[in-house]
Amino acid sequence: MWAVLFALAMAVVAPAARGADDVPTPQPRPVRSGDPPGATPRESEAEKGSKSAEGEKGAKDEAGLPDAGEVPRPEPRPDQPGETKAEDEPPADAGKEEPSPKPEARPDRPGDGEGKDESPADAGKAEPSLMPPPRPAEMPAEETACRARLKELGVAFEERPQLADAAGCSVPWPIAVSALSKDVALAPEAVMNCATAQRAAEFSRDHIVPKASAILGSALTSIRQDSAYVCRPRHGSAKLSEHAFGNALDIGAFTLKDGRTVEVGKVSKRQEGEFMLAIRLAACGPFTTVLGPGSDADHASHFHFDLAARRKGSAFCQ
Ligand SMILES: [Zn+2]
Repeated sequence: MWAVLFALAMAVVAPAARGADDVPTPQPRPVRSGDPPGATPRESEAEKGSKSAEGEKGAKDEAGLPDAGEVPRPEPRPDQPGETKAEDEPPADAGKEEPSPKPEARPDRPGDGEGKDESPADAGKAEPSLMPPPRPAEMPAEETACRARLKELGVAFEERPQLADAAGCSVPWPIAVSALSKDVALAPEAVMNCATAQRAAEFSRDHIVPKASAILGSALTSIRQDSAYVCRPRHGSAKLSEHAFGNALDIGAFTLKDGRTVEVGKVSKRQEGEFMLAIRLAACGPFTTVLGPGSDADHASHFHFDLAARRKGSAFCQ
């Protein structure tokens, strides 16, 4: 009996006895109504998670990672502090094709057939406005230089008005591209930023054109694009797709001078498979994200190429 009373007395006295100097001692929160009976007062999982996510973002910022609209990451991931951004790409990108594009960004095309253009892109409408500011009156020097380069490459393009959306989608100086060279059409016309158009034209000249001749035995005449600028978030995420910045191009098929059209994901001959693989491997580097059939269900029928900002020299290719 005395022993029990003594123990109780110590239990009551002990915390007070530590005094006010023990500042580092975490203050237990009271047990909340939702806690299970006997729950120890401690940080909830959610609280831990959000702290961890903040820490992770801070670490990224310190590392000087370029931000292409990819942070903050919405899901707390307390267990994987060292996980690289690139590893997040496949699931994050997985649903890129599902949310619908704005009609003005890319008019519905016959044959699109995926039903993905039908519902309004209202995912971000409830968020506070992220409307980009109006672009300056004068075109920046890098945009001017890019256009000069496009002309050298033989790219056919037209200027378009600034693209800006309260969801944060933004292309200050978009262009509509209808050919990547004098010989290679891009159809239908694709709206993107100039840097993406330049990279696509160079990639076509350096890789797609020579590989089509060498592997498929006929000259490339046209590339079918399945998506370029589209204002939409990634699937299951608040992050915007690279498509929302005119920074991505989806390619669905290649048409040759002999009349053949080889579609991504519908390869039937060995040479066609070889051609697709060669394109895909070569794209990793010139583009910083390369996805396609096998990456996930949403990329079964096209290559996704983008210029997401990453650490210098790094690319995510799957
Ligand atoms: Zn894409």
